[in-house]
Amino acid sequence: MKKEELYSGKAKTIYKTDNPAELISEFRDSLTAFDGKKKSEAKNKGYFNAQISKKIFEMLEEEGIPTHYIKMVSDTEMLVKAVEIILIEVIPRNIAAGSITRKYPIEEGTVFENPVIVMDYKSDEHGDPMMNEDIAVAMGIATYEEIAQIREMALKINEILKNYLGEKGFLLPDFKLEFGRVDGKIVVADEISCDTCRFWDKTTGASMDKDIFRFDKGDLSKTYEEVAKRIVPEIFE
Ligand code: UDP
Repeated sequence: MKKEELYSGKAKTIYKTDNPAELISEFRDSLTAFDGKKKSEAKNKGYFNAQISKKIFEMLEEEGIPTHYIKMVSDTEMLVKAVEIILIEVIPRNIAAGSITRKYPIEEGTVFENPVIVMDYKSDEHGDPMMNEDIAVAMGIATYEEIAQIREMALKINEILKNYLGEKGFLLPDFKLEFGRVDGKIVVADEISCDTCRFWDKTTGASMDKDIFRFDKGDLSKTYEEVAKRIVPEIFE
């Protein structure tokens, strides 16, 4: 069923399958930060991220949000719909952290009364510059209607995820979403995992995400395992 490699990114490899409408997304143990300038590997990272992503996609589907997720085909491999990726990183922000505190005079930890949706052009080559609907339309990346729909979906997903993770003892300062087109519809694609979200422990405020790697804050495999224990406790039974 799994056929040749289609594309290998920084943390996942995408394979063709017998069915052109479906791909396999393999979550690997490799990780990068700072536009690929910092590289490493962490044991079981791919496994924990795949399982966390699976659980979150299933939960979003139950809440009526369409995603590219179909099913798991192994511990680290996900069968997904082949979508046309829209080259925009959509970042809902609830608490200031990361790039927004470097680019604007906003202090880390500032709680946003209204979620802030940041859109970046997905291109390491260009350093992921800021994107908005006019630039997206000018570049032919998406239509005004699509951008409006993506924004609505991102706000809804943010509310759902914030509540879901809140119950599991996490704050969700920010996370990154990617969207794709399939069958005339916009769906959530890529992954939603420790690599693409900021998770702060509600009690201690400690980072439980890729910031561990970005800023050498501790043992990444152990931290991702702790996150997996809260989100997918069933895999430890
Ligand atoms: N993010 C991501 N991929 C990227 C850039 C950002 O998944 O290429 C996620 C990141 O993990 C964080 C959020 O998007 O949860 C916001 O990242 P930010 O813009 O603050 O960039 P950073 O501080 O990580 O450079």
